[in-house]
Amino acid sequence: MSTPARPANRHHKRPRGEGQWALGYREPLNKNEENKKNDDGLNVRQRIIDIYSKRGFDSIDPADLRGRFRWYGLYTQRKPGIDGGKTAILEPEELDDRYFMLRVRIDGGQLSVEQLRVIADISNEFARGTADVTDRQNIQLHWVEIESVPEIWRRLEAVGLSTTEACGDTPRVIMGCPLAGIDADEVIDGTPQIREIYDRYIGDKAFSNLPRKFKTAISGCTAHCTVHEINDVAFVGVVNEQGEPGFDVWVGGGLSTNPMFGQRLGAFVRPEQVHEVWAGVCGIFRDYGYRRLRHRARIKFLVGDWGAEKFRQVLETEYLKYALPDGPAPQAPRDGRRDHVGVHPQRDGNFYVGFAPRVGRLSGDLLHRIADIAERHGSSRVRTTVEQKMVILDIAPDRVESVVAELEAADLRVHPSTFRRQTMACTGIEYCKIAIVETKAAASTLIDELERRLPDFTEPLTINLNGCPNSCARIQVADIGLKGQLVVNDEGEQVEGFQIHLGGSVGLNPSFGRKVRGLKTTTEDLPDYVERVVRNFEKQKNEGETFAEWVRRADEADLK
Ligand code: SF4
Repeated sequence: MSTPARPANRHHKRPRGEGQWALGYREPLNKNEENKKNDDGLNVRQRIIDIYSKRGFDSIDPADLRGRFRWYGLYTQRKPGIDGGKTAILEPEELDDRYFMLRVRIDGGQLSVEQLRVIADISNEFARGTADVTDRQNIQLHWVEIESVPEIWRRLEAVGLSTTEACGDTPRVIMGCPLAGIDADEVIDGTPQIREIYDRYIGDKAFSNLPRKFKTAISGCTAHCTVHEINDVAFVGVVNEQGEPGFDVWVGGGLSTNPMFGQRLGAFVRPEQVHEVWAGVCGIFRDYGYRRLRHRARIKFLVGDWGAEKFRQVLETEYLKYALPDGPAPQAPRDGRRDHVGVHPQRDGNFYVGFAPRVGRLSGDLLHRIADIAERHGSSRVRTTVEQKMVILDIAPDRVESVVAELEAADLRVHPSTFRRQTMACTGIEYCKIAIVETKAAASTLIDELERRLPDFTEPLTINLNGCPNSCARIQVADIGLKGQLVVNDEGEQVEGFQIHLGGSVGLNPSFGRKVRGLKTTTEDLPDYVERVVRNFEKQKNEGETFAEWVRRADEADLK
């Protein structure tokens, strides 16, 4: 029997939509969307309290376990002993351990010493002493059992902390400058805006079903330390022509696959308008965001298609119902390093002391030690940074030397080498189910080796390690970005390694850097590779030239 002829109009049917609610696509077009429609992620909290924490891990509905738990910062961690070659092959239930990573959101990176101690106690009592500071200012705990979660929430919430919407398709932690309110040079303190958005909208069902995650940064810091260029929405401190401080709004930045820098809307936002502009941008994302394909669901794809002009017009006409005035672009950042490591003056005559743990790895005991050091020196405030670092605020001039000595004695470096200061690593295979390679230990070894081999190197140089193609550690904007993958070594064996990405940057000359064809290293050879390329840079660099600038003009042979 012959096949019936295809209808003539087959090639003329309407293009499929992107699943935008605003265009009438309310029926879920994939499993994630279906799960969100079946039950709001925020509803899982009560089931955790009433059922799962009482009946144990095996009682958890799989749709909650691998879906809605994220709305409260809970992910199952990777079962130990599964190598990276199996990541893409195994079913989720084969990769799941019976323990959880729990992400505590720290909006603006702002912690009191009391809050820090609560996290430290939770770490020691319920998380086997684990505590990692992330590059979005959160603290992540591991080895958490479902039975402990209600008690952990009780303790966190008693001091004003939470895990609500720390993960999931939600408005994640709002990043802010760790020095907000104390920095002598800041354009504006973004803390009230961060608090207002947190209080009004985090945990609000109006924004708990977004197409994908939604990342916010709000800062008036002149070093531009919150990497506003790669957030879904960012408010950057500026002063308008009338001398009024306010914010310049950026939308659509993000890394991972298809990295894009955010675009300026060119609008000036007064401090009291920030929360409604934020809600407008988040609302556009909720209503017009692409829900059909998960890998096109971030707001950057919508912004990329619409452009800044249309985005602003929809924001003003459909959401704000008023026009925003035009405003200036932010000033260029004040220097090459955006972190706040070291000892620096505050505007009140005290000092802040920023320090570098190793690639964000801390512990319950170390968090207590930091709290002790702060308190003994008269401080009640600490901060997390977006570079996996921490800062103690409010140190009187005559106490600075003592704080520095105590932090250094705890291997929390106030005057770190470039390599300790500027190397970041994501969670990697130790706990992450998507990972292909180990990252934290590899980064730690790399730091030790580079400090030994290149003791006099003092130029800025960011080295970011990721355990997979996602970009949790921002590889595309690092001087040396390392993307975890399996590679073949000289003996022909498949081993852990990295694809190398060079010369990415944010700031004055933002760039996603340069990929050199086939440039890879095994984890074992990584220190040799970095040493080689850094020595070439030192030999060839012109006066004042940065690593990223050198990479752009260097011969390929010198980058290998
Ligand atoms: Fe996991 Fe990949 Fe993110 Fe690293 S970059 S934490 S391996 S998802």
